[in-house]
Amino acid sequence: MTATLPFFPPDLFEHDRAALLDIVHTLGTGTEQRFILGQHTARFENALRDTVDGAEVVACGSGTSALTLVLAALGVGPGDEVVVPAFGCAPIAATVVNAGATPVFADVHPDTMTLDPALAEAAITPRTKAVLPAHQFSIMADMPAFEALAARHGLRLVEDSAVAQGAVLAGRPAGTWGDAGVFSFVQVKSFGMPGEGGAVVTRDADLATTVRMLRNHGQDGHRRFVHHLVGHNSRFDELQAAFQLHRLPGLAARLERRAQIAAYYDARFTPLADRGVRPPPPLADGRCHYVYCLRAERRDALAEYLAARGVGTHVYYPAPLPAQPAFARYAPPYAAWPNAVAASATILALPVYPHLSDAQVEHIADAVCAFADRKDPHP
Ligand SMILES: *Cc1c(COP(=O)(O)O)cnc(C)c1O
Repeated sequence: MTATLPFFPPDLFEHDRAALLDIVHTLGTGTEQRFILGQHTARFENALRDTVDGAEVVACGSGTSALTLVLAALGVGPGDEVVVPAFGCAPIAATVVNAGATPVFADVHPDTMTLDPALAEAAITPRTKAVLPAHQFSIMADMPAFEALAARHGLRLVEDSAVAQGAVLAGRPAGTWGDAGVFSFVQVKSFGMPGEGGAVVTRDADLATTVRMLRNHGQDGHRRFVHHLVGHNSRFDELQAAFQLHRLPGLAARLERRAQIAAYYDARFTPLADRGVRPPPPLADGRCHYVYCLRAERRDALAEYLAARGVGTHVYYPAPLPAQPAFARYAPPYAAWPNAVAASATILALPVYPHLSDAQVEHIADAVCAFADRKDPHP
């Protein structure tokens, strides 16, 4: 079987095409001519509230912007330090820098690749204001440990749950840990949509009120041109809200299908450990399956081998954050992040989107197993 399975599928919204066109037509020709922060956004926020144990949900411009709004609402600014993982996506550190604060990188756990609570604690100084763990690929960060750590040191806790919408750890949904969490609805995320969007999730009503003001130039939603705060433009699109409301009922089944595919990969790859390919650690709790990442000693050769068999893969992330030119000035010369370095060198993400057929999933797993079984070490 020669398949062509791109890592980023172009047909994510194929089944929703008619609904999308209908929404565009209805909103575009509606008498209200309201395209941001209207009744669809309010309904979308309420619908999401039901998925996070009734926490407040504030829809905003993107996941990155959600982090920015949370940091601003918590008063993180110049002179403050925020402990962040050394391995992850750029917004984790960039939003801290753009808030005027200093990101302090701590290494990740070697297996889960999420921020290691003990190493995060060791990075705390008198200037630390917050700690910002991020859920990674398919595994939630150790939020109970971070909650205890934040309480012990009097720190704010920001949960980057951009990739973990729908996951539950110790009975608590992703997004509801700490002072606030965030979601991202950018296309590639598990609840992605055809455009930019995100949300802040918080159980703190005052924080939610502040974030609501900050997303729309510091206004309170009742009176225009009264600016209580210096805000941002991070408003949510009515069209996307209506589309996400249409997509929300199918989310649980899509997450379930992702989990099913991941479980199949796990079963196929667990026996390969002595041949240089390892599945993610076998944890049951706090899983999300946004991205399925295995670890491979000969990662680049495996990626080439899979590409030759029509299987697209992706390297999240090819370098630790402190090794990026943008963040080099926040990387003290005496510091090291060996687990982040090892993760960057060995990680490989396989397709795990819900509309893969069983035969396609099998084809991908077969190819990985065939690579591991080869006697010849060269591709
Ligand atoms: C995607 C992502 C973000 C940013 O979300 P955008 O909507 O792309 O701005 C932040 N943190 C993590 C961990 C992410 O994966």
